[in-house]
Amino acid sequence: MRCPFCGAQDTRVIDSRLSQEGDQVRRRRECSECRERFTTYESAELNLPRVVKSNGSREPFREEKLRAGMLRALEKRPVGSDRIEAAINHIKKRLLARGEREVPSRLLGENVMHELAALDDVAYVRFASVYRSFQDVNEFREVIEHLERQPSADDTKDQTDLFEG
Ligand SMILES: [Zn+2]
Repeated sequence: MRCPFCGAQDTRVIDSRLSQEGDQVRRRRECSECRERFTTYESAELNLPRVVKSNGSREPFREEKLRAGMLRALEKRPVGSDRIEAAINHIKKRLLARGEREVPSRLLGENVMHELAALDDVAYVRFASVYRSFQDVNEFREVIEHLERQPSADDTKDQTDLFEG
């Protein structure tokens, strides 16, 4: 592993630990030349299913897009990066566990709602209001009631899709 500071080839691992989820190894390294320290992450590369949009077009699963959508909902909310990353990992695991090559984008949205509901009520409502594009105040009330009853993602309607475009 090349040193990102000085480019030297020789760096050594000074600490190595498994992530809480057990699916990632975090390594602290030190450059033998400049003595700078940096961190690398190692995880298995798995093929996530492609995402089928409501108009029938397909696109690769993009983790950055998923993260961006969640961060937007969580903006200025008291939720740490570790918990957000764990939520993203949960979503990826669930998608992988389906063992399908393609999943509807709606399913991805439902998964995000499910995770946000566990992380932060405000983020959940923010995301839901965009994702479901409420037609009237009753729909909004439904989501709030749903939230109060320990939400699950299974009764989400097939509506506007945040992952389109
Ligand atoms: Zn160096």
